[in-house]
Amino acid sequence: MTDHGRRPKRWANDLNTILAAALGDDRFPIPVETLAKDFSKQRFPASPIVEVMARPLGSFEGALYPVQDKTAWAILHNTDVSPGRRRFTVAHEFGHYLMHRDLLPDGIACNEEAITFRAGEELEEEADTFAAYLLMPLDDFREQLEADKKPSLAEFDAVKDRYGVSLIACILRWLEYTACRSMLVVSRDGYILWAKSSKAALRSRLYIRTRGVPPVPVPAQSLAGRRDFDDLGQEGVEHPAGAWFQEPCLEITVISDKYDQTISILHFDGRPTFEFEDVTEEDAFDRLSPKTRERFE
Ligand SMILES: [Zn+2]
Repeated sequence: MTDHGRRPKRWANDLNTILAAALGDDRFPIPVETLAKDFSKQRFPASPIVEVMARPLGSFEGALYPVQDKTAWAILHNTDVSPGRRRFTVAHEFGHYLMHRDLLPDGIACNEEAITFRAGEELEEEADTFAAYLLMPLDDFREQLEADKKPSLAEFDAVKDRYGVSLIACILRWLEYTACRSMLVVSRDGYILWAKSSKAALRSRLYIRTRGVPPVPVPAQSLAGRRDFDDLGQEGVEHPAGAWFQEPCLEITVISDKYDQTISILHFDGRPTFEFEDVTEEDAFDRLSPKTRERFE
């Protein structure tokens, strides 16, 4: 394997090729802690990862830092997080090690937003991309969930278990390639923390902006807004136009046990109703109908 510098997909793909040759389908969930130690020891014997361990990290989710007079590295992950989040965090820090350790001689500590919101600076985005591609390789993922079919919660759960990741990480991966018009909305205490749309949804102006605006309330008519959904939320409910956006949608909503977050998947019917070239999320927001924009501002 050559040194791929700061190319996260190349690193992840090569590691998957190695694991697939050795373990085939049995490589899932990817044994990321062993992989980080064994691969670094073999490939970079002068500066290997020697430890992966849990520590109370406060508001930080994970860290990579030098040990043994800077001749080796350790990966830390916060205690008391689910195995899925821990796996993603360790993969994220392994990504920093492979791509950024020369840029970060004193190490790096990463907060929840950098890791789970898939937002942040360039280095964080590269580490997130590496983690997603390593743990959920696209070719295998697409065989589990087809691009043009809207998954149920049970189908997302099965894939989540296959890769040993969180439900949110799994949904985000699917949103990257799906042809469906779908969206993930994460909320807490009646307010939307963040949302992510598929490309097809963006093209239809289906997007909720949460950065740089006042707190966005969850629509009152939605399941996420009612909070009394239980099994109904897992099966999904068909909403008429106006509940979330000015068109009907299927809403699947569950509570994330660890972080008291409400996770909503919105599936809209059909094809994009509006086509924009090179649409971005910012553009999409600017093009929201005034009525929709009003509701989410
Ligand atoms: Zn990071």
